[in-house]
Amino acid sequence: MMRYILTMLGMISLPSALAAQTSPADEDAAWSIAIHGGAGTIKRENITPEKDAEIRAALAKALETGSKILRDGGSAMDAITATIMVMEDNPNFNAGKGAVFTWDKTNELDSSIMDGSDRSAGAAAGINGTKNPILLARAVKDKSPHVMLSGAGANQFSREQGLEQVSPDYYATSRRLEQIERVLAKEVSAKDIDYKFGTVGAVAMDSNGNMAAGTSTGGMTGKRWGRIGDSPIIGAGTYADDRACAVSATGSGEYFIRVGVAHEICTRIRMRWPVAIEEAQKTVPKDADGNYTYAIHASEFMLSDEDVQKIADSVIGEMGDLGGTGGIILATPWGQTIYSFNTPGMYRGRADSEGEKSVGIYGDE
Ligand code: ASP
Repeated sequence: MMRYILTMLGMISLPSALAAQTSPADEDAAWSIAIHGGAGTIKRENITPEKDAEIRAALAKALETGSKILRDGGSAMDAITATIMVMEDNPNFNAGKGAVFTWDKTNELDSSIMDGSDRSAGAAAGINGTKNPILLARAVKDKSPHVMLSGAGANQFSREQGLEQVSPDYYATSRRLEQIERVLAKEVSAKDIDYKFGTVGAVAMDSNGNMAAGTSTGGMTGKRWGRIGDSPIIGAGTYADDRACAVSATGSGEYFIRVGVAHEICTRIRMRWPVAIEEAQKTVPKDADGNYTYAIHASEFMLSDEDVQKIADSVIGEMGDLGGTGGIILATPWGQTIYSFNTPGMYRGRADSEGEKSVGIYGDE
C-alpha cells in the first residue's frame, strides 16, 4: 500500500513535509504492536528485583510473539490474539491463569477483541471454563451473529466451538487466593489489592495497515453481583478502527465505561485528522491565480506523535477527573504506538518495524 507520510508539527511547511516522505518499500513492511499487563500503584519499592525481571521477561515474550507474526506478514488480529494468549497463560497477570477472585471465590473472566478493518467485534463477559478467554471473544466475533455473550450461555458457546476447556480451579493461584482472603477479612480493600496488577491487552497495526485491539481480564478482586468492567465492552476497554486507532484499556473499569475511553480516543483522532489536513493545506503556497500549488491528500498525512499523545492524555485526564485511574495503549494507522496512564506505573511494551522494542513498568521510564 502506498502511503506517503507528512509529519505535521503545528504548522506544516511543504518542503520539509516532502523531505519527510518515506519510500513505498519501507511502508509495505511497516507494522507496530503495543501491549499492557495492567496499570496501578506499581512502584519500585513494591516490587522485588526478581519480580521486576520476571514481569519484564513475560512482557518481552508476549511482545515477541506478536512481533514475529507481524514481521512475517501476519494479520493484526492474529498478532494480538497470540500475544494476549501468552499473557493469559502467565500467572503474573490478572487474565486467564492468575485471574482475581470474586466475592464468592470464583473466577469470572471478561474479554473482547475488535478488527479495525471492518469494525467487527466479539466479547465475552463473566465467563469460566475457557482456558483462553480471548479465543472466546474471537469466536464470538468470527462464529456468531452477536458481539457480546455472557455467563453460562457464553460458556456453552465456547464448548460448542471446541475451545480448550479447563476445570474451574485452573485459574487459581495462591497469591490471588491470599488476596481475596485478605479482602474478605477486610484487612485490605479490593481497590488497594487491584491497584498493583491487572488486565492484559494488545493493539497492533499489520503490514496491510489493518488494526486490531483486544483485552482480557479477571476483573476486580471481590467483585460481586455479576459485576462487569470495561474490558469486555467495545468502546470502553477495547476499540479498533483503521481510520483512527486501536486502543486497549486497563484500570478502574466503571470510569472507563462512563467515558467510553477507547471509542472516545479513536473518535477524537478521526475527527482531528481532517481538521489537521485542512490546516496543513492552508500553509501550501498559492500560484499567481491564487490556487494551491499542491493539494494535500489524506493518504499522505499523519497526525504527529504529540497530537496523538495529547488526545489520549486528554481522555485519560477526563476519566481521571471523574475519579478513575488506569491507562491505555494505542496504535495508529501511521505506525505510532502511544501509552497514556494516570497511575504510578503500567506494565507495558511496544515494538515496530523500525526497530523499536522496549518494555516498561514504572511511570518514570
Ligand atoms: N479494567 C478492569 C476491570 O475494571 C480491571 C483492570 O484493568 O485492572 O474489570
